[in-house]
This record gives sequence, C-alpha cells and structure tokens, in this order.
Amino acid sequence: MRRPLIAGNWKMHKTVRETLDYIRRFRDLVSGVTDREIMIAPPFTALYAAGEALAGSSIRLGAQNAHWAEAGAFTGEISPVMLKECGVTYVIIGHSERRHIFGETDEMICKRLSGVMGAGLRPILCIGETLEEREAGKTFEVLERQVKAALQGFAAEDLRELVVAYEPVWAIGTGKTATPEQAQEAQAYVRRLLADFGGKEFAEGIRILYGGSVKPENISALMAQPDVDGALVGGASLDPETFARIVKYA
Ligand code: PGA
Repeated sequence: MRRPLIAGNWKMHKTVRETLDYIRRFRDLVSGVTDREIMIAPPFTALYAAGEALAGSSIRLGAQNAHWAEAGAFTGEISPVMLKECGVTYVIIGHSERRHIFGETDEMICKRLSGVMGAGLRPILCIGETLEEREAGKTFEVLERQVKAALQGFAAEDLRELVVAYEPVWAIGTGKTATPEQAQEAQAYVRRLLADFGGKEFAEGIRILYGGSVKPENISALMAQPDVDGALVGGASLDPETFARIVKYA
C-alpha cells in the first residue's frame, strides 16, 4: 500500500523567525499522526533552522528546487548536497511556477531530477496542463510529454522513491480545485504512463499527489480517489492550524 503524503509548499513565504514559530505550533497539532507522511517546504533561507527545529519529529523537510550539480559556477542556485546538509528529505522539481515564470524546460527538469536522485534525496516531480491545454483537449498529451521527458535516461529501479504531483496549472492559487473525478482521471493516466515506463509493479508503488487549491473542505473527497495518494498544498499550508486540518483529513 502507498502511504499518503501531505506536503506543504510554502513558495516565497516566511522568514526564519516565522518558520520557527510555525514549526513550534504545527508539531503539537500533528503530533498524533502516524499513518501518513507530512512534509513542509520552507524557502531555502529557512531550511537549516527548520531542519534543527524538526529534529526528533517525523515531519519531513522539503526544498522547493535544486540544481543538478554538487557545486559550481551557477549563481543563484542551490545544490542537492547543500539541501541534504540542512536535513532535507524531499525536493519539489518542475513546479509550474518554475516552468512558467522562470522558463524551466523539460530538459532542465530531467537534469534537476538526476541531481536530486544522485544525492539520495526524494524528488516530487510536478506536472500539469494549463487551462488552454485542457480546453484544447491536450491534457493527456501534455502529461505524457512531461513525464517522458523528466524520466528520460533513468532506470525504473533507481526511481522507487519518486513522487509525482499532478498540479493542473489552472487550479494553482486560483481557488478553483479540480473535481475529484478530474484528478482521478489525470492521475490514473499518469500511473499508466509510469507502468509503460517501468512496469505495473513499479507504477503501483509510486505515490501520485494532487495539487491545486487543496483546502480542509476538499481534501477528503480528493483522497477518496484510488489514484490520489496525497496532496501538495500551497496557500492552505501557510497557516499551521489550516494545514493540520488538511493533514488530519478523515
Ligand atoms: P495552491 O498551490 O494550493 O496555493 O493552489 C499548490 C502548489 O502550487 O503546489
């Protein structure tokens, strides 16, 4: 069975002090939760302090991106080794904001994925169609391109720790969630793509998260879908009480 993962993507929010304040409150709120995995991804500047504050807790620390090299002349980038030192377990790769605002390509995302895997960190690969692509009937085509390009050159046995997040771009930060049926349809398709890539057993072991305006009110219906194995939560993860309610969905 796939263990649910509820992950918070803070994006460019919270100073070190705000991060520590959050963790103090959040740790208590979710202290009894053992049957699902919880992750928070603060900004880079707060990772080291967050890693220290989370010591001894089962809450995982995530980063919002990583470069592929260990070190080098890459101004403004952060390497997987640096993240590991901070206590990071998961790294979000290919988020739609990275793709659309900062021009990250499928090729770069594939390289970032290899850097993350190489350092022994777990990637959360984000994929998803824009509204225009959905309306043009191209959702499956886009998902196929993004999955194939990201996994190109990998062997399935090296990708057992991979997590995929289906995040329809039109649902991110818009308050407009995909219906549970829309999420299920897309995520079942992604699992078929993973089966084509690495076989049925491989695909059955990979967690596929849904992301895009997840809230305490819609998490249960989304999680009830057979191919929704967790959530990647942006806005609603910024408040510890709200995120704890999402984590503790029934
Ligand atoms: P949202 O963001 O929950 O604010 O829509 C999700 C994400 O970007 O991961």
